[in-house]
Amino acid sequence: MTDAYTRFTRSPLGRPLVKRTGLPNPPRLPRHADRPQPVLGPVVVLGASPGADEVAALLLDWGADVRRRFEETSTVGSVVVVLDDLAKPADLGTTVLPLAGAMRSLLPGSRVVTISRPPTGEDLARDAVRGGVEGFVRTLGHEMRKGGTANGIQVADGVPLTAPGVVSTLRFLLSARSAFVDGQIVGVARQDGALPEDWERPLAGRTALVTGAARGIGAAISRTLAGLGAELVLLDVPASGSELSGVANELRATPLQLDVTSAQAGDRVIAFLRERGIVLDVLVLNAGITRDKMFANMTADRWDAVIAVNISSQIALAEALLSSDEPVVGSDLRVVSLASTSGIAGNRGQANYATSKAGVMAFVDALARRLGERGTANAVAPGFIETDMTAKIPPLQREIARRANSLQQGGLPLDVAETIGFLASPGAGGVRGQTVRVCGQNLVGR
Ligand code: NAD
Repeated sequence: MTDAYTRFTRSPLGRPLVKRTGLPNPPRLPRHADRPQPVLGPVVVLGASPGADEVAALLLDWGADVRRRFEETSTVGSVVVVLDDLAKPADLGTTVLPLAGAMRSLLPGSRVVTISRPPTGEDLARDAVRGGVEGFVRTLGHEMRKGGTANGIQVADGVPLTAPGVVSTLRFLLSARSAFVDGQIVGVARQDGALPEDWERPLAGRTALVTGAARGIGAAISRTLAGLGAELVLLDVPASGSELSGVANELRATPLQLDVTSAQAGDRVIAFLRERGIVLDVLVLNAGITRDKMFANMTADRWDAVIAVNISSQIALAEALLSSDEPVVGSDLRVVSLASTSGIAGNRGQANYATSKAGVMAFVDALARRLGERGTANAVAPGFIETDMTAKIPPLQREIARRANSLQQGGLPLDVAETIGFLASPGAGGVRGQTVRVCGQNLVGR
């Protein structure tokens, strides 16, 4: 699904005009269906640490064409920059500067992924260079061309670079599944998680509940999780019953008509699961609404409705499932919640929505701590995604919002769904309390 302007830029009339005038020229973003291989080769692994050797060996295992330096004549599909041994700011250039000369030889849809350690507050020079990697990655995200992206993985000290969380995150960021994730840093805090036997079906044998599944992003999440092998329980309000049945029939899933804000929602879900003998491995808290108004005109009903659906219902459902005496959740749960870039940067007319979504980010952090050995929780923060929700934005404002990111286009519900598929997978156990933006490096906020 491309927007009208993007179609124009690819037409015989639009192509030369865009070139001549310097108007935005949104690149084609390859998705998993177009490019199913895990790594676009050749892949160059930079870095001289033992960790860099381990990463190179891992990529070879995946069947990638791996090089340890740039060769002048050849093009490059992916670059992994291993920076786990930095001690001071002057160290960074030694590893990254060879990439400068190779930036123009990166293929369309290329990937740059850094792997580094987070600042710890223990060593001034080491913290400075570790923090510096973030600025480097975010800048490369802005400078990548032709649909390429740059992202980073920050691996806590003591966690090996071969830990499931690092391997799963690397695989996601290098693949076309991360098409609309750009300029982001994903933290891996622990060694938890287990790698799947089959990377195409990491959710085989696992059951997921998706709220707000009848349409939009929720329906896309459901399709993607089903494609990754999950059994599904799909929840939405009774008023969306027929749309919900449509998605459930298509995916052979079990529909559950329920308003997540109702006082008995938690009990109803538990009873529903218990009656069918279902144990959840994945909980996707996607149901959400907007009731936009400038704060000067905000009313209690608009404020309360957004807080109730977008955050209070999530807390209530998680509390009910986790404290239930019935065994309705598995021993290694994955919770993934929907935040928004509005919750990071704020957004005019969305005081209620931004409050609820910033709340979601703090909630998943707290929930990940509470889950401890029982699983993990993370959030996804979509930017501008082409859905019914964004189709309601007035045309000029919509066009500005859609272009204001490094990839100069809106993302697809599929892009959000793929990121949720990664966070829901068994391998992502070490990714804890994070909010991963799916926004094409939207120019707002961090
Ligand atoms: P949508 O309006 O198309 O779909 C939301 C779904 O949630 C609907 O099926 C709706 O019936 C359901 N729902 C609403 N209230 C419910 C309730 N009380 N109980 C059960 N189900 C309920 O929205 P979307 O664009 O697909 O958004 C999905 C999520 O992604 C939301 O949390 C939204 O805030 C978030 N998000 C969307 C965008 C975007 O660009 N579309 C950007 C950032 C975040």
